[in-house]
Amino acid sequence: MHPNGKVYLVGSGPGDPELLTIKALRLIKEADVIVYDQLPGPEILTSLPKSAELIDVGKYAGDHTLSQDEINQLLVDYASQGKMVVRLKGGDPYLFGRGGEEALELRKAGIEFEVVPGITSAIAVPACAGIPITHRDNASMVTIITGHEQKKEGSMLDWEWLSRSLGTLIILMGVSTLGTYIPKLMRYGSDPDTPVAIIERGTRDDQVVTTGSLSTIVDIAKDRGVKAPAIVVIGDVVRLHDALGSSG
Ligand code: SAH
Repeated sequence: MHPNGKVYLVGSGPGDPELLTIKALRLIKEADVIVYDQLPGPEILTSLPKSAELIDVGKYAGDHTLSQDEINQLLVDYASQGKMVVRLKGGDPYLFGRGGEEALELRKAGIEFEVVPGITSAIAVPACAGIPITHRDNASMVTIITGHEQKKEGSMLDWEWLSRSLGTLIILMGVSTLGTYIPKLMRYGSDPDTPVAIIERGTRDDQVVTTGSLSTIVDIAKDRGVKAPAIVVIGDVVRLHDALGSSG
């Protein structure tokens, strides 16, 4: 039924094209179809090969954004036609990327697939902004959370525990909800002077880093018009940005 069709769930890294893996680059060059959204960023998306059919699921058929179900179906349909499909996803496909959902659907439909890990923005974006997330003097633990939890089945996040943890806290998809969880951390006991960095469009040409503390960052972010995609880093390791960061 599926002659040679296969889907590769490929991580594109944080945005700098040189941070694509060698395997990602090879598969992009060989693909019949590349299914993408905007997260890989303009530097990577503008250099996708014209030899492949390019499908933007964020702007499908004009301006319609495809639902996850429709994306899953698209992958199944193309692979069923025998196509070699690259599903290009920002960062790593399995870190808050819904790659797992796509993999499950492909498995259910009997489509061959392979996951190709990518450099996740959660670690690489702070790194390139001069923040080593487990600098030995400052942190022995790092916690990566989503700022945009699906509320359907109740929260899986223990904010009280997070507020007491002495490690580094990294929040993805956490710009629009900043004004909710930052006060919550302080309410549960985090030191209001804990440093915070927000890195917008990390590793891309137009990266912007905004710093402050738990008590100031919400207002600073609002004043500066901070926008997604951005990584929020909370913890003492943010102090290293002064010594190791280059853009601000
Ligand atoms: N799978 C991705 C994350 C998907 S969730 C990964 O491993 O990186 C989408 C979130 O990733 C964004 O809301 C933002 O928080 C973060 N993100 C991805 N690329 C980014 C970048 N270049 N700069 C800042 N944040 C980024």
